[in-house]
Amino acid sequence: MNILLHSVYIITMDEEGPTSVINGFVIIKHGEFDQVKEGKPSQEELNNASEVINGKGKWLIPGLINTHGHLGSSLLRGAGDDIPLMKWLETVMWPNEKTFTEDIIKKAVSLAMVEMVKSGTTTFLDMYHLHMETVAQLAQESEMRAVLCRGMIGLCSEKEQRNKLSEAINLHRDVHGMNSGKITVALSPHAPYTCPPSFLQMIIEKAKENNIWIHTHLSETEEEVIKHKEQYGLRPVEHMERIGLFQVPCLVAHAVHLSDNEITILKENNVSVSHNPMSNLKLGSGIAPIPQMISKGINISLGTDSTASNNNLDMFEEVRFAALLHKGISKDPTITKTWDILRMAMENGAKALQLQQLGKIKKGYKADFLLIDPNSAHLTPWDKDRIHSHLVYSAKGFDVSDVFVQGKQLMRSKELLFLDEEKVIYEANSFLHS
Ligand SMILES: [Zn+2]
Repeated sequence: MNILLHSVYIITMDEEGPTSVINGFVIIKHGEFDQVKEGKPSQEELNNASEVINGKGKWLIPGLINTHGHLGSSLLRGAGDDIPLMKWLETVMWPNEKTFTEDIIKKAVSLAMVEMVKSGTTTFLDMYHLHMETVAQLAQESEMRAVLCRGMIGLCSEKEQRNKLSEAINLHRDVHGMNSGKITVALSPHAPYTCPPSFLQMIIEKAKENNIWIHTHLSETEEEVIKHKEQYGLRPVEHMERIGLFQVPCLVAHAVHLSDNEITILKENNVSVSHNPMSNLKLGSGIAPIPQMISKGINISLGTDSTASNNNLDMFEEVRFAALLHKGISKDPTITKTWDILRMAMENGAKALQLQQLGKIKKGYKADFLLIDPNSAHLTPWDKDRIHSHLVYSAKGFDVSDVFVQGKQLMRSKELLFLDEEKVIYEANSFLHS
């Protein structure tokens, strides 16, 4: 399969500025970009293509990468607003999740996938504790790129802890590398406040043994930091370093409440941070010190968290919030740059998820990309100088018309090709009306 897509403005994200926007065409072979060229394709190039697509002047950009979420709880969208994190977990999330069957998980995950593809997400991370083998199956059917983690809470007996860890390791054994490498698996202790040190050490040991990286929630609320200091005499990041968490590659979600020393620890250990601004705002958790982390050189990616704390999975909204938020609280519009914020949802996301050759439109990179129709009032006027700005400050998930993952088309002219949108929405709605 050799796809040639022409008449597009390619936002390569290879280097900052308008020079990285090319009016041209791409050739995709074996799920990767084989050519990214300016101008029109030659007759020979057209003849060699097994499929030729006319991009009709649309923007071609890297697919968006959502580095933190919980797909299984998607049906709890709108179930509990205006509550702080711990109360929300204890009164809304955990009691509801206890009643979740495999069927409910299927409906929730399918709903999230529909929403994500439609709004331009091509890769997602899912941390969840129920039916992750089923999630892997659904991810395969959707043809999306996915990082799956069996989330583990350690507030239970050692026997139960070991069972959870075995499930997580078995998930890695069974589905890591599935669907031509589009599905990968990480280990996921839920958080330091739900996993005692002995359990965390058990997980770290297994991660090292099996060469698996780790994803966890960390320093999400002020309360978490205060309790951690009371219990262990150290702040969470300092404690995690002592326990050995950062001896394996690590992506932490939130990192809202950090001391200068903790920011240094994250940088020294090459830890990536998933910034989830909307979830942090909705739960009143606070605002992560992103400009300070960027200036230290920490890799920052973007995540939505679950629809129960966001309440949608549109990564364009997350990008816009990340771009606006830090300017507002610092009273300094120069504190974050458009380019840096956009890259968080692309190349930085790939790096955070330990995925190689992803997040740019470049020869040898995986062909995960979107087409955006710029013929809308809110994207007008535009030229090469303004596209990056429009993508950060004006674009919406609804502007995405076509989605490709590893060279395979998942959405054509807003129609999903591997997910039955109407059925998925009907069945998800039946959760409340049955
Ligand atoms: Zn989360």
